[in-house]
Amino acid sequence: NHLGEAISRASDGRRDALFLEHGITGERVSYGDFWAGAERMAAALLRAGLEPGDRVAVQADKTVAMLELYVGCVLAGGVFLPLNTAYTPAEIEYFLTDAAPRVFVCDPGKLEALTPIAETAGVTRVFTLAGDETGTLAQARDAEAPGLAAVPRSGDDLAAILYTSGTTGRSKGAMLTHRALASNSEALRDYWRFTDKDVLIHALPIFHTHGLFVATNVTLMAGGACLFLPGFDAAKIIELMPRATALMGVPTFYVRLLDQPELAQAAKGMRLFISGSAPLLAETHEKWREATGHAILERYGMTETNMNASNPYDGERRPGTVGFPLPGVELKVCNAETGAEVAQGDIGVIEVRGPNVFAGYWQMPEKTAEELRADGWFITGDLGKIDGDGYVHIVGRGKDLIISGGFNVYPKEVEEAIDDLPGVNESAVIGVPHPDFGEGVVAVVVPEPGAKLTAEGVLAGIADRLAKFKRPKRVLIIDALPRNTMGKVQKNLLREEYAGLLS
Ligand code: ATP
Ligand code: MG
Repeated sequence: NHLGEAISRASDGRRDALFLEHGITGERVSYGDFWAGAERMAAALLRAGLEPGDRVAVQADKTVAMLELYVGCVLAGGVFLPLNTAYTPAEIEYFLTDAAPRVFVCDPGKLEALTPIAETAGVTRVFTLAGDETGTLAQARDAEAPGLAAVPRSGDDLAAILYTSGTTGRSKGAMLTHRALASNSEALRDYWRFTDKDVLIHALPIFHTHGLFVATNVTLMAGGACLFLPGFDAAKIIELMPRATALMGVPTFYVRLLDQPELAQAAKGMRLFISGSAPLLAETHEKWREATGHAILERYGMTETNMNASNPYDGERRPGTVGFPLPGVELKVCNAETGAEVAQGDIGVIEVRGPNVFAGYWQMPEKTAEELRADGWFITGDLGKIDGDGYVHIVGRGKDLIISGGFNVYPKEVEEAIDDLPGVNESAVIGVPHPDFGEGVVAVVVPEPGAKLTAEGVLAGIADRLAKFKRPKRVLIIDALPRNTMGKVQKNLLREEYAGLLS
């Protein structure tokens, strides 16, 4: 139940095997090298005064050293707390004050701005780590010997605090235990059939659950290798594909890769393409299948739970769905008010229970009590339904549901109708205050480059397809949707901006 021991055991006997090859520099790191680095990191953290349960916060570029820090922190009994590299000093101040870490690691370029913030937040040791892996943390690691045994921790102890993406409001710190992380990475490895023959293209950030607890942990748990890219780079991914077996990405990865002329050829030898973190359009799924012959495997997860559901490895990967609950995970669809399970096929709030579920929000007991039931069910806030074959469909977020004149309008349904119109790139449908209806439907539409769209044209285009109460009262044509640093559409910002539109 110790995450560090579990991933170490998984690569036992593979010390000479490749763990990671840097996709740009070509640097190769064996499992032996990696574990030595992680053990040295652990020793450096202990020397800096880390005690079991202390948080180690880090805002640094994606490097092998940062992965060593992650595993080293877990081995040292600490709680790993990665932060989005896009956060400004003002945002970092919120996270450090909230999480009160013992150790903080940042880019040398930000040291001057962030040191006073860290000190005020009670950090006792600040290290630096640069994108080229230099910095005081690397020095501290190199001064230590490898071989440190894991500091004992129980399955209920925290291994990480990961802040949510902040799509619906201020980010919350999800407390993740050793058991939750270890059990989910084992479940995913088995479900997706990862083995030590796999080579994963790793182009996701490692401050988020997708790149860290899915991509990295699954690779480590399988004893496989990864081709490590500092960020998304379509041409580079195409170049690496012939040497890889799997890719994990957010939907925009797939949309952008479809523009690459060599995609079909490059994807030939691949075993698996996985998508998550946001809805993959059925259209993208179909285009990908046409271009490559592969059905993208879509899965559903969140910071608080890691992964909950996945399309099957064998069997139909159904576009527009996230498949079945993972082994060990229970999933049900409930009435938002009563909490009672809805009838099969009806839409409601998705609740999940299982060893993967978090231990609560850091320092937010009320919020935890609202969303995590005493019997272990977590109220995800996502709306969904389960079809007749058991496939889970995500319909949107509860906070985005529009209630207009007493009728529920699911933005996704309206967005799909608009997105199907010629000349539409993408759209976001929101509810804003309306004097008669409570809320009125507003569509914000982004045209394809060069396309001439009008509000009237959009409304005429969907009139046959949607009941009147679902049709937008106003259509706005804009250049781009606001997205947060994880690429998720920020409907709360649109709602704020257009709050007065219908009143
Ligand atoms: P916050 O909780 O701070 O508002 P967030 O929910 O975007 O931010 P994450 O934990 O990164 O933070 O994202 C989890 C959410 O992403 C899920 O609750 C769900 O709404 C969405 N999501 C993840 N995978 C999928 C998917 N395959 N299809 C649709 N939505 C998905
Ligand atoms: Mg969330």
